[in-house]
Amino acid sequence: MMSAQTLLVVGIAFAGVFGLIIGSFLNVVAYRVPAGISLMRRSQCPACDAPVRPWQNVPVLSWLALRGRCARCGEPIPVRYPLLELGTGALFALVTWWWTVAAHPAAAAPAFALPASLADGWLSITTADSWTAPPAGLGSGLLAGLWFAATGLVLTVIDLSTRRLPRSIVRTALVAVTALLALSCLLGTDWWALVRAVLGMLLLYLFYAVLWLAKPGGMGGGDVRLAALIGLLLGWFGWWPLLVGGFAAFVLGGVYGICLILFGRATRRTAVPFGPWMIAGAALGAVFGTAIGNGYLSLFGMA
Ligand SMILES: [Zn+2]
Repeated sequence: MMSAQTLLVVGIAFAGVFGLIIGSFLNVVAYRVPAGISLMRRSQCPACDAPVRPWQNVPVLSWLALRGRCARCGEPIPVRYPLLELGTGALFALVTWWWTVAAHPAAAAPAFALPASLADGWLSITTADSWTAPPAGLGSGLLAGLWFAATGLVLTVIDLSTRRLPRSIVRTALVAVTALLALSCLLGTDWWALVRAVLGMLLLYLFYAVLWLAKPGGMGGGDVRLAALIGLLLGWFGWWPLLVGGFAAFVLGGVYGICLILFGRATRRTAVPFGPWMIAGAALGAVFGTAIGNGYLSLFGMA
């Protein structure tokens, strides 16, 4: 019988390998969905149509073995491919660690509040007896988090390269994340977390929809749909994560826009992709929202 600590390390390593495989799939999604190509077709080289053989489909290793070129025509395979695979693997390991260790000890308290610091979370992985078995709903909640992470990564890549946020990807994530969070509640997580998630989804969606109607062209319809997905996840974590995460997107995007103007790379009229900032803001809100909110309240002696 493995100790809880070993089990946790094995689980995080497994999540990393799982992430490499999902990252390989995200490469296919990022290339095909904006181009309107079916995900069901076999993989082939975009230059010479040579089919991708199974041994050429191993994440990262195949790219290294092929030295970044198609085996048949020698067309370069962009370094973006292994990077997205590595990035997904690292993110999956990180999300799994955070969800099960950093957020877990507080699971008995208000749903998934963050402990005093992330370092505490790391300590609890290195000392076996401080880590107890997770509640039953944790696994399915974690899967929802991983689905959101994968969606966030692929939407960032697509928005940066095509200035679009394909609605099929956002809708699929909305359905999958809602179903996995509901399953987590069936397995024992407080149903209030799901109610808050659905309210968060409606609130952030409405907020973005009002902005979109008030200033057409400032924001894309894709941003409004993405706001629903982000509100769903942040609401699951709590009201502070929702507020901080929703607000952070505008701070991050605004600072980035001002930098672009200062360095002469853009004017006030240049359209800047906003999706990546919404996703980065959501990550900030999920991890630090509660701590930031409580810190803000304590400034006024209210917490
Ligand atoms: Zn080729």
